Amino acid sequence: MNALEAEIRKIVAVDGPIPVAQFMALALGHPTHGYYAGRDPFAARGDFITAPEISQMFGELIGLWAAAAWSEMGSPDRIRLVELGPGRGTLMADALRAAKIAKEFHAALAVDLVEISPALRRRQQQTLAAAGVPLSWHATLAQVPEKNPLIVIANEFFDALPVHQAVRAKSGWHERMVGLADDGKLALALHPDPIVGFSAMLPAELRDAPAGAIWEWRSDAWAVELGRRLVRQGGVALVIDYGHAGGLGETLQAVGGHAFAQVLERPGEVDLSAHVDFAALARAAARSGARVHGPVTQREFLTRLGIETRAAMLKTATSGRAAEIDAARARLTEGGPRGMGELFKVVALAEPKLGALPGFG
Ligand code: SAH
Repeated sequence: MNALEAEIRKIVAVDGPIPVAQFMALALGHPTHGYYAGRDPFAARGDFITAPEISQMFGELIGLWAAAAWSEMGSPDRIRLVELGPGRGTLMADALRAAKIAKEFHAALAVDLVEISPALRRRQQQTLAAAGVPLSWHATLAQVPEKNPLIVIANEFFDALPVHQAVRAKSGWHERMVGLADDGKLALALHPDPIVGFSAMLPAELRDAPAGAIWEWRSDAWAVELGRRLVRQGGVALVIDYGHAGGLGETLQAVGGHAFAQVLERPGEVDLSAHVDFAALARAAARSGARVHGPVTQREFLTRLGIETRAAMLKTATSGRAAEIDAARARLTEGGPRGMGELFKVVALAEPKLGALPGFG
């Protein structure tokens, strides 16, 4: 048993079972033993690989998208480019390099990085040391100054936010909790009481779900705060993640060393994530007054932004890398189990007066 599991067992022994979301928050965000506390999960032998780590084309296309969005916003003199959960800083470095061709946009930029992990913050500082734009780091979105319009990028960020689960039983929907089994180990259990009024929160077609059905949901806090900022400060947020448009089923998963693991085992040593419910995200942002563009698939988005042309240019500019560049393009855009093109969706949340945005058709 590791130190974090010992601590969670103690919490449960004293306070009683905790919601799955609280377990996930501790496993990822515990200040000393959490998954994001000490490690760089993207190291070569790391736990997973994200789109910006697959190819520089991903960040470059997003940098050019941001320049186009800025122009759509009326080319403001000052713009905050905010990234939520920047990982190793690769996406931002590639985006800033590509955006240099839009000189006025580049000159208007200040970059805000919202990062919870001290290890990844250090890594981002190294990656972006020579970026040539002002950089600031914050622990939450609330700390980003409420000044100037925003362009926010969030790639594989929302999937890391804690998810709640409810299970349908005869007596109603019960929240799934993490408690202790008779042998003292952590175990899943249902809260004894149904959640009052839960059915009314569900989409109408799911209210009569059969016993055993699972519904996952997240706090709306990030989406609401984003929406509120976009309406007040102006701007747009690009959210890219794997997900669905609302529906039943369990998607919470644990990944360690590039393989699936048990959710409750070795907390803090494996990554936990769950699919993003894009319908719920869009509803929350729209409630704050933001306009929602998409979702579109990652394939549609990157194809419309010109990934084919970008790949061809990169092949011309480099030598001996053609096969690698083709493989990366395929992985980013194709469907199927290895491809990210269909599982990943892209949505933009924008101030209402903003017109059409590139990539959304
Ligand atoms: N966008 C990067 C990294 C994705 S992993 C990429 O595509 O490669 C998720 C990132 O979000 C990590 O940088 C992690 O440390 C950060 N993160 C997770 N939860 C967070 C929270 N609550 N607040 C701020 N950052 C968080």
